[in-house]
Amino acid sequence: MLKARQIVRKYGNLSVLKGIDLEIHKGELVTIVGASGAGKSTLLHILGTLDRPDAGQVFINDTDVFSLKEKDLAAFRNHTIGFVFQFHHLLPEFTALENVCMPAFIDAKSDETEVKKRASELLEMLGLKDRLGNLPSQLSGGEQQRVAVARALINNPAIIFADEPSGNLDSRNAEDLHQLFFRLRNELGQTFVIVTHNEHLADMADRKLEMIDGGLAHP
Ligand code: ADP
Repeated sequence: MLKARQIVRKYGNLSVLKGIDLEIHKGELVTIVGASGAGKSTLLHILGTLDRPDAGQVFINDTDVFSLKEKDLAAFRNHTIGFVFQFHHLLPEFTALENVCMPAFIDAKSDETEVKKRASELLEMLGLKDRLGNLPSQLSGGEQQRVAVARALINNPAIIFADEPSGNLDSRNAEDLHQLFFRLRNELGQTFVIVTHNEHLADMADRKLEMIDGGLAHP
């Protein structure tokens, strides 16, 4: 469902991605590991269409994503891709429920009642039934990250990209979040690509890709 061909990314004369080939299948949970500076975040941003490569192609569900114009790419991204970052990036002045609804409300065709219903169901599924009306500041770190996961799921994305999603959590909350990813993989067939330093998560994954100096050790 995702194919990357010969991805190259340079910053000035620093070659950060040196021709990456990669395939991700539906329902797979893939982790990307490697030393700091190896190019993991750069690759994840390109696979997630947040950044354009200098050369190479990314196909998601057979769409050649970088052939899309910026506006079409933004719409494609909102419909097809979910993101979870190390810092949750929830909007502080909105409740948990409103934060989860946000990516769906960006779509002008969305039905507000339907979206709120789905957001409530997702939050309930993630154990946050009693937190719908709370602001992010009223939630624990683990709860905030689960709200971010619900937000990533709201548009029923083909794939979720996560960049150090448990990097800011204690070990207990990190483990809970990892179990949640596997549950979503098992119950919804959700596809994940996760950059992580967490060895336990990396080893549990269906596939662990290691980046070394701008390349993949085991493509
Ligand atoms: P990782 O996620 O594996 O730690 P990154 O993808 O963040 O690695 O970075 C890879 C390399 O690219 C590093 O040497 C980093 O300094 C460089 N880099 C990342 N982003 C930029 C940028 N916006 N401008 C210049 N250099 C960058």
